[in-house]
Amino acid sequence: MSVSLDDLPLRDDLRGLKPYGAPQAPLPVALNVNENTHPVPQDVADDIVDALAHALREVNRYPDREFTALRESFAGYLGHGLTRDQIWAGNGSNEVLQHILQAFAGPGRTAFGFAPTYSMYPLLTQGTGARWVAGRSGHDFTLDPAEAAAQIEAAAPDVVFLCAPNNPSGTPMHLDVIEAVYDAAPGIVVVDEAYHEFAPRDERSALTLLPGRERLVVSRTMSKAFAFAGARVGYLAADPAFIDALRLVRLPYHLSALTQAAATAALRHAPTMLRMVDDIVAQRDRISATVEALGYTPYESWTNFVLFGGVEDSGVAWQKLFDRGILIRDVGIAHHLRVTAGTEEETTAFLDALASIGSAS
Ligand SMILES: *Cc1c(COP(=O)(O)O)cnc(C)c1O
Repeated sequence: MSVSLDDLPLRDDLRGLKPYGAPQAPLPVALNVNENTHPVPQDVADDIVDALAHALREVNRYPDREFTALRESFAGYLGHGLTRDQIWAGNGSNEVLQHILQAFAGPGRTAFGFAPTYSMYPLLTQGTGARWVAGRSGHDFTLDPAEAAAQIEAAAPDVVFLCAPNNPSGTPMHLDVIEAVYDAAPGIVVVDEAYHEFAPRDERSALTLLPGRERLVVSRTMSKAFAFAGARVGYLAADPAFIDALRLVRLPYHLSALTQAAATAALRHAPTMLRMVDDIVAQRDRISATVEALGYTPYESWTNFVLFGGVEDSGVAWQKLFDRGILIRDVGIAHHLRVTAGTEEETTAFLDALASIGSAS
């Protein structure tokens, strides 16, 4: 007889929770988890392999616990005068966010985000034993600075997540919202810039707000623009004292020597790795224009994906696309679906399939 979760002495606060579960199906066109669908360019891949071969010769030893070379590389990539003592990294930005929650949330504390937002924030929060508090975004998922600050004042959370631009809506978040939330928040404010590289080039990053704000953190990932999702590398910039807090909760040697070597090599080729961003942005804008012409309502997006409404039945439309070999995301908002901008061919396959199923309401 098989045992179920209910038979185990699981923590009470984890009972009934669902694990993260974006479907992983081997379909020809997978546009469901906002990956960069372009492979790593061959010359970069060759350099990464060389770096890995070198690192392997010393893999009998524990890696540099402080991943010094990698932090140096991230500081250089981010610019804004950042130095390596302001940088942290982990196995995906999800681990970095978990470190923040382990240090600043946990039992008896709360973390807050404006719904709908990244589905991992509540899961990571609950995993540390803290309570998740969902705020409300406004019309078209935008946030007004004063309204956002009022919600933060009322909730007084220990950690605030601002997804800028927001997943799953793609909505831009302007710096005045971040400043207002920071001033209203008693605790840590995390600006998740996972998609920053897909925003208009002249847009300022929240990194420009870091000086003088020791409770502000800006996280990034190599999973999206950098075409590095499978390597699992995320990072953040904050005050050096904040970085010290994260050292209290990370596992020793949490970044393997191979991860450090691969990421450091990839960062040496940042311009090449980011070469496809303009193409992806063009495909994103093509998706928005085409779904609108098909009778759906796309939301403004500064990311590599588009959320669109006006779907008669999102479950049915998702399944029809699946049956045509195309995997996109039902993010749980009624009458809406989200699709990642792929290569030109993948994007065309999605748009043709969407046109063929005629599911606009
Ligand atoms: C994809 C994504 C991440 C990145 O997660 P990794 O663990 O770095 O792969 C972080 N935040 C948001 C909002 C995302 O959509």
